[in-house]
Amino acid sequence: MTEEKKEIKPSIYGLTRDELIDWVIEHGSKKFRANQIWDWLYKKRVQSFEEMTNLSKEFVAELEDNFCLNPLKQRIVQESADGTIKYLFELPDGMLIETVLMRQHYGLSVCVTTQVGCNIGCTFCASGLIKKQRDLNNGEITAQIMLVQKYLDDRKEGDRVSHVVVMGIGEPFDNYNNVIKFLRTINDDNGLAIGARHITVSTSGLAHKIREFANEGIQVNLAVSLHAPNNNLRSSIMRINRSFSLEKLFDAIEYYIETTNRRVTFEYIMLNEVNDSPENAQELADLTKKIRKLSYINLIPYNPVSEHDQYSRSTKERVDAFYDVLKKNGVNCVVRQEHGTDIDAACGQLRSNTMKRDRQKAVAGAAQ
Ligand code: SAH
Ligand code: SF4
Repeated sequence: MTEEKKEIKPSIYGLTRDELIDWVIEHGSKKFRANQIWDWLYKKRVQSFEEMTNLSKEFVAELEDNFCLNPLKQRIVQESADGTIKYLFELPDGMLIETVLMRQHYGLSVCVTTQVGCNIGCTFCASGLIKKQRDLNNGEITAQIMLVQKYLDDRKEGDRVSHVVVMGIGEPFDNYNNVIKFLRTINDDNGLAIGARHITVSTSGLAHKIREFANEGIQVNLAVSLHAPNNNLRSSIMRINRSFSLEKLFDAIEYYIETTNRRVTFEYIMLNEVNDSPENAQELADLTKKIRKLSYINLIPYNPVSEHDQYSRSTKERVDAFYDVLKKNGVNCVVRQEHGTDIDAACGQLRSNTMKRDRQKAVAGAAQ
């Protein structure tokens, strides 16, 4: 007898408000019902459909038949001394993802994962160690915010997620439609209402998607992972540069700036004696000269990844010298602070370290 596969219902968090309105109308009810449900989901943040007490029993049953509420299971929570919290979540198919909450001076910021693994394969990154297994759907991305907010709600300290960065595992523009729906859901005024200007999406540089993003009409911030100031070096550490050269990337960025009139942030990881010489700083200043007033550079300390031991963090002297060259050229830049250094800090590390531990346990178990 073949075992029937357990059906996994989609999460209701996967519907944008417009989709929820359509669904409700298709199921014989009125638009205001969708608004009620939306309010239960994102304002009152109920944990079950049953708690939606102004809906009829029949309608609750209809929702239960079609959707699950929260598709994620919390596997591990790690809290760091500086208040950073890392969550390891399990997806309905057993795959693992991670989400991070950071306490910033301006509020509480959550870093979400968009894919299981990443195919871009940057040579310094823990996430790229595991090839992409699948995209997250937008319900699974939204659920990460909802679970972190629930964790905060349970503490009853009135904390609210105020900022979101799409900088966890995965390349968001390789899962474009789900990411856009997610952005619209968390930005919705009648729900979580996280301001577009408080949301940042980071891409490794898929130029055609940067153009598409420029045309979305949402005021979300764009960050571009640059990490090298010339094509040779960038192609050697970021394979994506072989498909989208710096010329193509900067054409798309200029298009984005012209279309949206918004600033772009560049992320630049400081890799000791790889991309951190004063000459590299001068190249970086020259590369960004044309968009000087509309760009910002974050110099990021490298989080060492044991599998990538060819890289280490730039020394303070090298960071200072690099920063000085940028400043002399009038570049807007800052050396970014780190979060959660006493827990599995870098993107993808909690997940890859947990998987390693799980594998070790499995091997140990098999040997017994
Ligand atoms: N894929 C997207 C977003 C996720 S990565 C992107 O690449 O932009 C988010 C940021 O973390 C990127 O700037 C990435 O280069 C950086 N990053 C990756 N590994 C890192 C590490 N070990 N230490 C510090 N930053 C890292
Ligand atoms: Fe993927 Fe971003 Fe890591 Fe590159 S840095 S491998 S694009 S997650």
